[in-house]
Amino acid sequence: MLALQYRTIGSAPEVVEIETPEPGPGQVRIKVSAAGVCHSDEFIMSLPDDQYVYGRPQTLGHEGAGVVDMLGDGVEHLELGTSVAVYGPWGCGQCYECSKGSENYCTNAARYGIVPPGLGAPGAMAEYMIVDSPRHLVPLGDLDPVKNVSLTDAGLTPYHAIKGSLAKLHAGATCVVIGVGGLGHVAVQLLRAMTPATVVALDISEDKLNLATEVGAHYTFPSEQGTVALVRDLTHGEGANVVFDFVANQATMDLGQAMIRPQGDQVLVGVGAGVLPVGLMAGAWEASIRSPYWGTRPELIEVFDLARSSGINVHTEVFSLADAPKAYEKLKNNQILGRAVVVP
Ligand code: NAD
Ligand code: ZN
Ligand code: ZN
Repeated sequence: MLALQYRTIGSAPEVVEIETPEPGPGQVRIKVSAAGVCHSDEFIMSLPDDQYVYGRPQTLGHEGAGVVDMLGDGVEHLELGTSVAVYGPWGCGQCYECSKGSENYCTNAARYGIVPPGLGAPGAMAEYMIVDSPRHLVPLGDLDPVKNVSLTDAGLTPYHAIKGSLAKLHAGATCVVIGVGGLGHVAVQLLRAMTPATVVALDISEDKLNLATEVGAHYTFPSEQGTVALVRDLTHGEGANVVFDFVANQATMDLGQAMIRPQGDQVLVGVGAGVLPVGLMAGAWEASIRSPYWGTRPELIEVFDLARSSGINVHTEVFSLADAPKAYEKLKNNQILGRAVVVP
């Protein structure tokens, strides 16, 4: 089968022919319908050799959807042909966090060497993919896999981030989304569907700001220092209740900290390596800083239900597997509007 693999440190991912995998005991093979292109892939491929810990060759793709195609020994209660999405942050299934469905915070994963597909285990950018347990599959039902595959990360991650700050997103509240890319443009829609808050979107690209308006942002501003005053003006000098930072480099974290109101939340989702001063004399009083990772399995089910009931729409640009390296090239150059999706 064909697969997109990251093989050589510092080089672009390559389309290669590899053996079609067979499911082992307890595993499920899916025939991939769609796989999403995330900035985190770009991030891991930018790491130098001594910091790259994901193994090579790495079949990319941690946003995956497909059709159940073959069952390993002992797998029951799953019908061949079912259209499914893959819940990506795999855990042990047994610890307290996993028991709650929070496999993203599994306390055994590191010890047992359990890693997500596309970020250690073979991912979804291939014709077929092995899923370690039927527990990681969520039926898509009537949802189109190509339009919705990215909800497994670009939807689930902002959903989990927003849920943790929901109590502060009441009527009259203002929130700020920094970075209206794959995750950010879904975050704007989720905030509109889940909260009565005013949504302000910031980006460095005019196209992304236009997309933010299209998907429901009340205000859009360029992401620069002067925007702090604009957000303060909008909020009668008080500042934002919650800032969701989908970049989290030094510039955006400084910006976020400067516009948070007392007791607000600064939610750091991006993998940028910014650093914040904390303490009574730094930032707003009693502000919280959160750095959520991905989301829980029940939340993924909720995200799909919300997509059905509230029309959450991922703006997608579709690529064939042969053209997948082009999708990564465009992402690197910040030329993808919404999410790139690969259809093998
Ligand atoms: P993306 O490339 O699709 O979007 C990034 C957006 O940020 C783009 O619109 C870009 O124009 C904008 N941007 C860049 N610099 C900016 C600045 N200084 N100010 C404002 N906007 C700026 O990326 P994505 O796939 O949406 O991922 C976003 C981030 O979230 C990445 O860092 C990714 O690695 C991370 N991520 C984290 C998790 C998690 O679990 N915490 C999950 C998925 C992705
Ligand atoms: Zn991701
Ligand atoms: Zn666990």
